[in-house]
Amino acid sequence: MTIKDIRDKFKYTSRMVAGRPVVYLDNAATSQRPAEVLDKYLNISTLSNANIHRAVHTLAVDATDEYEAARDAVKEFIGADDRKEIIFTSGTTASINLVAFSFGEAFVHEGDEIIVSEAEHHSNIVPWQMMCQRKGAVLKVLPVDDSGHLRIDELETLITPKTRLLAVTHVSNVLGLVNPIPEIAQICHSHGVKILVDGAQGIVHQRVDVKKLGCDFYAFSGHKIYAVPGTGVLYGKKELLDAMPPYMGGGEMIETVKFSGTTYAPLPEKFEAGTQNISGAPTFIPAINFAKEAEAVEVETSKIRDYVLDALTNDPRIRLFGVPRETSEKIPLFSFCVEGAHHEDLALILDKMGIAVRSGQMCAEPVMDRFGVTGMLRASFAPYNSMEEAEYFIKCLDRAIKMLV
Ligand code: PMP
Repeated sequence: MTIKDIRDKFKYTSRMVAGRPVVYLDNAATSQRPAEVLDKYLNISTLSNANIHRAVHTLAVDATDEYEAARDAVKEFIGADDRKEIIFTSGTTASINLVAFSFGEAFVHEGDEIIVSEAEHHSNIVPWQMMCQRKGAVLKVLPVDDSGHLRIDELETLITPKTRLLAVTHVSNVLGLVNPIPEIAQICHSHGVKILVDGAQGIVHQRVDVKKLGCDFYAFSGHKIYAVPGTGVLYGKKELLDAMPPYMGGGEMIETVKFSGTTYAPLPEKFEAGTQNISGAPTFIPAINFAKEAEAVEVETSKIRDYVLDALTNDPRIRLFGVPRETSEKIPLFSFCVEGAHHEDLALILDKMGIAVRSGQMCAEPVMDRFGVTGMLRASFAPYNSMEEAEYFIKCLDRAIKMLV
C-alpha cells in the first residue's frame, strides 16, 4: 500500500481549489472519508435503514447487527476488555459531557477537586467547569511549559485527598505532542484519582490500547478518524460506568418504566438513550480498517512530519508551538505564528494557492493565553497527504510570508 493507493480511496483529491487539486491540511479539524466509509453509510441508509434494538423485522435485525458489529470493532481496536465498556455518542464533546455529568453525580461532592491541563480543548474544560459549578467543586489546572509539555512534576502537588479526577488530552489539537498518559495515569491512580483521556487527536496517529494507557475513560470522535460526523465513542471501565447514573433519559435506556419508578437498562444501553446514529456508527468498521491499512505508510508520514518540523523550526520568522524533545512525540500537526503576519491573512493567502489550513484559537483559548497570542496557523497532515504536498505547503508559506512581512 502506497500513499497513491491510499489517495485513490479519497474522492476529495479531485476537488480543485484555486485551479489545482486542493492540498487539505486541516485534518485535525476533521479528516476526509475513504470510499468504503461513504459506501457503508449509503448502503445502510438505503438497504438496511431501520431503527435498532426494537423491531423483529429483517431490516431492523440487519441494522442492529451492523451497529453492534461496530461496537465489537471499536472494542478490539482500542483493546477494551468488554463490549459493554464501549458507549456510542455523537463525538468527543458528547463523551466528555457524559462523564462530567454522570461521574459528577456519582462521585463528586462539595469541595472536591477536578484537574484539567492548560493544553485542553474547550470540550475538556467547559463540561468540568459546569459540573464543578453544579456540585460546588473546584477546578484546578496543570500547567504546560514553554515548549508545550505538561508540567507533570507539578501533578503530585496539585493532587490532594479531595481530587476525584484528572481530565487530560492524549494529544493537544494545538501542540501536537503525545502526552505520557501511562505515567500520568500511574500518578493519578497511586492517589486514588480517576483519569479521563481526551483522545480526539490521540486516536488518529497511533494505535491506542486503553489498558496500556491505564486510563479510566477514553473519549474520541468518529469524524477525526475517517468515520462520519456525529459518531463518537466513550470507553469507560465497566465498574465505573456501572456505578454512574444515566446522562439522558429516554427510549431504549430503560429496563422498565412505571410512574412509580423506572429502572435502567444494563450497559451499554444505559448511556444510549433515544435513536442512535444508526447509519453512522457502522462506519467505524471501514474507518478502523482504513486506519489499520494506513499504518503501511506510517514511515512516509513520519518523513513528512520530520520534513515539516525541520523546515518550520529552522525558519527564524516562525514561532512553533509544541516543540518536541524527540520527533517521535510529535504527531504531524504544526501550530505556529509569524511575527508581523496575521494568521488569518496567511490562511487566506494559502487558500488562494489551493491549501486548506486552520487559523484562529482552535477551541483552545487558554493555550493561546498561555503563549500570549490571539491565534495561530495550523497545518495538520493525514496518511493521504504526500511529500509533494508538504513541499508545496512550505514553498507557499514562504511566498505568503514574503507578501505580508
Ligand atoms: N478535543 C480535542 C483535542 C479536539 O481536537 C477536538 C476537536 N477539535 C475535540 C476535543 C472536540 O471534538 P468534537 O468536536 O468532535 O466533539
